[in-house]
Amino acid sequence: MSGILNRRALLQRAAAMAALSIAGACNAPVSAKRAKIGGYPFTLGVASGDPVSDGFVIWTRLAPDPFDRESLTDEAVSVIWEVASDDQMKNVVQRGVTVARRALAHSVHVEVRGLPSQRAYWYRFRIAGGDASPVGRTWVAPRVGSPLERLRFALTSCQHYEQGYFTPYVPMMSDRPDLIIHVGDYIYESSWGEQIRRHEGPEPYTLDEYRDRHALYKTDPHLQAAHSFCPWLVTWDDHEVDNDYQGLDSEDWEDHDAFAKRRAAAYQAYFEHMPLRHIAVPRAAEMRLYQRSTFGDLIEFTLLDNRQYRSPEPCRDADHGGGHLVSIATCRDLVDPTRTFIGKEQEAWLFNNFSHATAKWNAIAQSQLFSQLKQKTQDGQEATWSEDWNGYPLARERIIAKMVQTKLSNPVILGGDIHSFWVNDVKADFDNPGSQTVATEIVGTSLTSAGPPYELLAAALPDNPHVKFFESRKRGYVMCEVTQSALNADLRIVDDVRDPNTKDGSLAKFTVEAGKPGAVQA
Ligand code: FE
Ligand code: CA
Repeated sequence: MSGILNRRALLQRAAAMAALSIAGACNAPVSAKRAKIGGYPFTLGVASGDPVSDGFVIWTRLAPDPFDRESLTDEAVSVIWEVASDDQMKNVVQRGVTVARRALAHSVHVEVRGLPSQRAYWYRFRIAGGDASPVGRTWVAPRVGSPLERLRFALTSCQHYEQGYFTPYVPMMSDRPDLIIHVGDYIYESSWGEQIRRHEGPEPYTLDEYRDRHALYKTDPHLQAAHSFCPWLVTWDDHEVDNDYQGLDSEDWEDHDAFAKRRAAAYQAYFEHMPLRHIAVPRAAEMRLYQRSTFGDLIEFTLLDNRQYRSPEPCRDADHGGGHLVSIATCRDLVDPTRTFIGKEQEAWLFNNFSHATAKWNAIAQSQLFSQLKQKTQDGQEATWSEDWNGYPLARERIIAKMVQTKLSNPVILGGDIHSFWVNDVKADFDNPGSQTVATEIVGTSLTSAGPPYELLAAALPDNPHVKFFESRKRGYVMCEVTQSALNADLRIVDDVRDPNTKDGSLAKFTVEAGKPGAVQA
């Protein structure tokens, strides 16, 4: 989608690098004279994540001026963290000191443990004798297997900073989610389309450039408010690194060694800006992001990493037009059983989770459209999109077959990436509409990013009878409430993300009854 702007981005980058080397030389003697912390350090807000039955992780990053490295000392800075049982932070139940280091952009990730289960808490950070952060709200999960009546969660993805204000977070907070699940494209590395505000700087390649991009997004007040409102669970898609990348294959065929370095920089900046546990600290060029979170006896969320371990894109070559729509008849890669979407190790981990799942609902939160979507090439051949699960149909079949084999309780697949709402029946055999519906898929539209052409995708719907709902012309998110008896999904929209005072509404509501896979419009 962003390919056309790449040449310009590279030129801008070259110009910026030249400017930087001059500025760097001039500024060098100044840093020693600067104050240790040159201003209020909590400009990027606070966040919490991954509630477990005795704690959660809390995050902040010290950044007096997030775009000026010199605004903060190179030395480690001690940061006090506090967890209280009240929003005024009067009854502090745990307190500690951690250290923010330059090596991780002075980010702080505290794994709070030892708290009683199923309770709300408030948290903040302080510099000794100095500033305090805003207060965030979070909670400790119920014990795995213990009774939980309901959980409300919002599903969001695809927040292009340039293409809209992050206003959908306003109605989302009015919906009072317990949890926000972000399934990728948290930042965008590239620019295209209509722009109502601009990225600072060119397309990122280096660690500092990715840090600046994350910091820019985190300066958005609606995003900060949503992070402090409740804990998040996060996974990424492609734009956190590079449009449409898979494994070490980049959009523009960068050399694998060079792209490994770029990807490592992007992964590190992602870790530095997200409420993630230390298991996710990047090691070499890799980062462990996939995880599962279980809430009482009600619901387990499995978050997949769709990008890091993926086999190369099928039939991405001149013989097949070089695009993402490949002919089903001629693309042999589609039927190669050795090709993987999430990698052998993650797949084995997922299947092991299926075998040991105990919750009533099993949600798989991941970045892309999962269900089959048959399309046609311009000359009328049956075709499929090669850049999501549709390019890896045997990997998808393995997952569906494993759900059936393990009798996975109420599987629901949550996704994003395609900038449109989809509600789908996940079929045992997509080519046989009469086959068993194994799971329900709900794909949330983009928070702000422009949607794909409506007519083009709507024209494909007759060939995809398992699609129960599709809409690409609206921006928003999905608000879900899950109970022992049903999962209710409200497809929430705003009128216009280019309007800072936009109105919001509900596009459609769907219900999945426990024991009856497939969503029914309410
Ligand atoms: Fe996106
Ligand atoms: Ca994407």
